[in-house]
Amino acid sequence: MRAMVMDAIAGPLEVREVPDPVAPAGGVVVEVHATGLCRSDWHAWVGHDDIALPHVPGHELAGVVASVGSGVTRWSVGDRVTVPFVEGCGRCEWCLSGNAQVCPAQEQPGFTHWGSFAEYVALHAADTNLVAVPDDVAFEAAASLGCRFATSYRALTGRARLQPAEWVTVVGAGGVGLSAVMIAKALGANVVAVDRHAGALDVATKLGADHVLVADGRDIPAAVHDLIGGSHVAIDAVGSEQTSRDSVLSLRRRGRHVQVGLLPTETGLSPVPMARAIAWELDLLGSHGMAAADYPGMLALIENGSLRPQDLIERVVDLGTAATLLPTFDQASPAGMTLIDPRR
Ligand SMILES: [Zn+2]
Ligand SMILES: [Zn+2]
Repeated sequence: MRAMVMDAIAGPLEVREVPDPVAPAGGVVVEVHATGLCRSDWHAWVGHDDIALPHVPGHELAGVVASVGSGVTRWSVGDRVTVPFVEGCGRCEWCLSGNAQVCPAQEQPGFTHWGSFAEYVALHAADTNLVAVPDDVAFEAAASLGCRFATSYRALTGRARLQPAEWVTVVGAGGVGLSAVMIAKALGANVVAVDRHAGALDVATKLGADHVLVADGRDIPAAVHDLIGGSHVAIDAVGSEQTSRDSVLSLRRRGRHVQVGLLPTETGLSPVPMARAIAWELDLLGSHGMAAADYPGMLALIENGSLRPQDLIERVVDLGTAATLLPTFDQASPAGMTLIDPRR
């Protein structure tokens, strides 16, 4: 098969022929029809994750089951499927309680094994992790769910328990942030969107953001308090010391902060304004993807048109183009998602 191969950390990415994957016991091989390019791929490329070389990135995917390993009972060749970026083991207490997103024995395509920037990808524990894609949901839309959209959905629903008419501050209007704007509006909440780029904020406005703030060095928390008296929920969709702090300090008393953007630091410790968290009784929450078990509620909102992840797709490119884009994904802030069709 053709795949985008990484031979060295932060080295060039090459599209070339590699051996086809084989379905593991309990797993499947999926023919990839669409796969998303994400800042997490850049984190892996630059060396923030522990990956074995040579490596094939890619963790947001949808496609068709091409072969089925031993012991799989729920899936057959030809099924249209997607998968969360965290594949639970299917056996531990977290997986069995529907929380495969925190499985201690988890696999992740594009990180712990070869991913979906290829014509085919092997996936583990298919009966636990695969999600059927309804016929009227396109592969591109389905691929956009697995990481950023589902993560946003779970951050706002399962973690922050966002209520209608509440205010949510979304810091960062990339894939996660724009997903959060769309989802928050669909849930009946009000949104303040924050980003460095006016273009990204234009998209946030089109998706229904009630206020937008350009992060041009101004005091973002002060601006949010001026506008709405502080938000009930805030989400750091970027992952930096600055954006995390802005999110926490934008909250009103007893507000809920959700950290979604990864915060890699040399010490592994991330500074947060704990004094404010204590005095104002803030909830500081982490969010790590969403288990397949939680997809039905989200898919129902997509099927009835309340959520339109396809509207977040900015462009669809081939593997070669994606290989040149990936190393720029720390700076490039495309207003929306970049999808890859490996069959192009
Ligand atoms: Zn991702
Ligand atoms: Zn597990």
